[in-house]
Amino acid sequence: MKDILRRALDINEKYDVFNTITGEVETEGSGRLADIAVSVKDNICTKDMQTTAGSKILEGYRPPFDATVVEKCRMEGAFILGKTTQDEFGFGTFNVNTPYGIPKNPYDPERSCGGSSGGAACLTAVADFPHLAIAESTGGSISCPVAFCGVVGLTPTYGRTSRWGLVDYANSLDKIGCIGKTVGEVALLLSVISGPDEYDSTVLQVPQEDFTKYLVDSVEGTKIGIPEEYFSEDIDRRISKLVWGAIRKLEDLGASVLEVSLPYTEVSLSSYYIIAMAEASTNLAKLCGLRYGLYLPLEGSFDEYFSRVRSRGFSEEAKRRIVLGTFTRMAGYRDAYYLKALKVRTKVIQDFKRTFEEVDVLAAPTMPVVAPRFDEIAEMEPIQHYMMDILTVAPNLAGIPMISVPCGTVDNLPVGLHIMADHLQEGKMVQVAHTFEVNQ
Ligand code: GLN
Repeated sequence: MKDILRRALDINEKYDVFNTITGEVETEGSGRLADIAVSVKDNICTKDMQTTAGSKILEGYRPPFDATVVEKCRMEGAFILGKTTQDEFGFGTFNVNTPYGIPKNPYDPERSCGGSSGGAACLTAVADFPHLAIAESTGGSISCPVAFCGVVGLTPTYGRTSRWGLVDYANSLDKIGCIGKTVGEVALLLSVISGPDEYDSTVLQVPQEDFTKYLVDSVEGTKIGIPEEYFSEDIDRRISKLVWGAIRKLEDLGASVLEVSLPYTEVSLSSYYIIAMAEASTNLAKLCGLRYGLYLPLEGSFDEYFSRVRSRGFSEEAKRRIVLGTFTRMAGYRDAYYLKALKVRTKVIQDFKRTFEEVDVLAAPTMPVVAPRFDEIAEMEPIQHYMMDILTVAPNLAGIPMISVPCGTVDNLPVGLHIMADHLQEGKMVQVAHTFEVNQ
């Protein structure tokens, strides 16, 4: 077991995947995750272990409790190896928006791991011991990094997993999910962490399921929809080609393929960013240097103290989102921005609901590009970062489940195949992804 700790330290030295390594390497008993090292994204609370959500403003915060998902893993015999690096509060697509470690892509250290759960995806790719990662997605933070790092990520239906103990980014969008090396691994982890929880009133009241029963090698009769908007010319042609190859493979294995249209895809990006920032700006109001993490000498009025702590504790992207999010819900602007964005969200949901009357799952590329280099990212404007989420925000707005599996490489960099399903249809998507994985 000591070897695992040494390996974690070595990996961290090379890739910057941990904000905290716990030193915990002993399992607490038997169960479905016995002897498995679980890493936890740093925005999920772990008892007495620093939980920063990638922000200086939470430095030193040690929650007095475990998040429900963490407690469930412990009950199945897992030990918590560490807290993985991420964009501050989940605000980003490349895991560069953080004052802490910026994880390096396992295929090329000059490139991004993707975000915001970059540390979790990278660690999963390089860990040479039994390991599973708990991560979180608001608008694509599981799918994006797993695509860039060549591993598997499952984002469940909104409410399938409890958010109790998550440092909220945007409550109506946040979902805790799973990263692993194979579809089987994420299906196992989801079986452990999902299910009702009295501490989260938004969690779905559906019985806990064993998702490993869907690890069946068959797509005979499965109807796969291909949304035309997800293969536009904004997507790297080589990626579209590779993903079409994967779809043809599934067709050869017995699935039927149908082209479909999700016309609200283009406006989903603006709707997502307005809703996500509006919710984030209210969530962050509680971080005032009195209850959690960073505090400074008490001088001046409350407003002066509040401003001083927040100027120092938040980095640039968090400040940008607080300002924009506050603006979109101000009296006088709310109707034009926030309420309009909610209406668009309803249209996006209807797009998916209508499509799932015809097909079992949807298949598309996960990301429009392969992992970019850090120097390319530094040249990009914030809006260009946001635009990279064009393929992942719509399913997140709709709260439907999705899984990204590796489907080949472009320039020796991994590409993800994204399979999406209707609400609570994780089983179907696990079966399609597993069939693809084992027949590749
Ligand atoms: N890149 C998106 C954003 O910055 C999604 C991030 C996430 O899912 N946490 O909001």
